[in-house]
Amino acid sequence: MKYDVIIIGSGLGGLECGYILSKKGYKVCILEQNAQIGGCLQTFRRGKSVFDTGFHYVGGLDEGQSLHKLFSYFDLLDLPWHKLDEDAFAEVVIAGNPFFLASGHKRFADALANDFPHQRKQIETYTDMLKQIGDNIFNSFTGDYGNSALFESSAYLFLQQTIDDPLLRNILSGGSLTMELCSKKLPLYVFAQINNSFIQSTWKLKGNGSMIADKLADYIRAKDGNIITKAKVTRLIETDGKISAVEYNESEQVSGTYVISNIHPAQTLTLIPESRYIRKLYRNRISSIPNTFGIFTVHLQLKESTTPYLNRNIFVYRNGDSIWDCKPDKSGEINSILINYKTPRNGIYTDNIDILTPMYWDEVAQWSDTVVGKRGVDYEMFKQQKAESCIELASTRIPGLKDSIEKIYTSTPLTYRDYTGTQNGSAYGIRKDYNDALGTIIAPQTQIPNLFLSGQNLNLHGILGVSMTSFFTCAKIVGMNNLLKDFYI
Ligand SMILES: Cc1cc2nc3c(=O)[nH]c(=O)nc-3n(C[C@H](O)[C@H](O)[C@H](O)COP(=O)(O)OP(=O)(O)OC[C@H]3O[C@@H](n4cnc5c(N)ncnc54)[C@H](O)[C@@H]3O)c2cc1C
Repeated sequence: MKYDVIIIGSGLGGLECGYILSKKGYKVCILEQNAQIGGCLQTFRRGKSVFDTGFHYVGGLDEGQSLHKLFSYFDLLDLPWHKLDEDAFAEVVIAGNPFFLASGHKRFADALANDFPHQRKQIETYTDMLKQIGDNIFNSFTGDYGNSALFESSAYLFLQQTIDDPLLRNILSGGSLTMELCSKKLPLYVFAQINNSFIQSTWKLKGNGSMIADKLADYIRAKDGNIITKAKVTRLIETDGKISAVEYNESEQVSGTYVISNIHPAQTLTLIPESRYIRKLYRNRISSIPNTFGIFTVHLQLKESTTPYLNRNIFVYRNGDSIWDCKPDKSGEINSILINYKTPRNGIYTDNIDILTPMYWDEVAQWSDTVVGKRGVDYEMFKQQKAESCIELASTRIPGLKDSIEKIYTSTPLTYRDYTGTQNGSAYGIRKDYNDALGTIIAPQTQIPNLFLSGQNLNLHGILGVSMTSFFTCAKIVGMNNLLKDFYI
């Protein structure tokens, strides 16, 4: 069967590219290695609870805000979105002291200026700058791809230069625990776009992330697109300088005029071991770029009616030193966590809480040759100790938490590697580096004319970043002006 476009991977980026191209009349086929679609939007069920694996919340869904236009295009606005408290969408706790981040740039600045009156002017400079960067987010659609100057500026230095008070700098950074706050690498663009969207407004789903994947997939199928699961792409077959067929499960093939790979660019290149079109330099560059850290998640199933839902995210740091450049603690003690409450189905109590903390590949590398469910007793004990340390830290904010726990499930970078195919279980793929913006921002066009890249590795990670990148990639096939006709900016 010949399609117009073959897409590798059904993560958000693959599904969004499928949606855009289906809308434009292209016949698409998505190949997904797992039984479940969605990549980081996948869920898993244990008893009566359904847990999210990756996605937990988004920013900027109110009209006129960053994600609103994109989700309006993808018809995702009518999912059951739930807004977090406008007075405190996040609580940042440093050394036991809580600080609250409020939604809306003015409210955000006013709330922090109450605690730091001597820094009011500086807080306003900070919010003005973020707002300005956020307001220009769609400029990249009309030419300025990647906002290069902001990619070449340091987020850490921006904070140092804008805010005098070190505690205030930590609070402003504290809501970005899972972003990988690398002082010597993180570009201002990444920090500002993501934080700005959360300051605009922060939302969770009343339900699970798989709702996003399912809605996009329903549309693609309604337009005669095909999504094949349990189809691991094993080779891209090149003929006369073009990808002529995509092999999956080592035995089956499909072909298409265009191919979009929504998996890690380095993995994409391993699918084409020989090609005179892919220069060695490009291959070496892509395969040697470092990836971000992974995440350890403790999924707590709670006893019924024990834990009142809190309509905000809580970021807990043992001390201010663990906010930027957080490193694994040799003693195994956890220094920083994000506590995420699942929105209640009915009433006021939550059924589950996820606790997330950064985890590097080194910590699990010794089990890298094992597969899910068969990693051995040592691994189980390692996870148990980590989980206990996370719960200990979370209990400092949620009294009685330990007594409310029914069951504990955990996932590590090994889990992500095996379920989403990310390199070393990295949470966001290629680590962007302001010292080497050109080297770490990957263009959607490859050296093979009908092969394109998409997904979180290219430009900006997360739901916002991946959604933007899907447009950049599809524009290479249908033309940006053609896309903009349906997407008013
Ligand atoms: C723990 C965690 C929490 C997060 N929380 C948030 C959040 O709260 N908010 C937010 O905005 N972002 C969050 N993110 C980030 C966000 O979820 C991701 O950036 C985004 O979903 C990535 O989408 P993607 O399409 O690029 O890739 P992925 O979701 O990784 O999808 C890649 C897909 O390709 C498939 N695949 C891989 N290899 C092959 C192959 N050879 N053949 C076929 N299929 C293949 C995989 O199985 C997978 O389905 C989180 C990420 C993690 C890990």
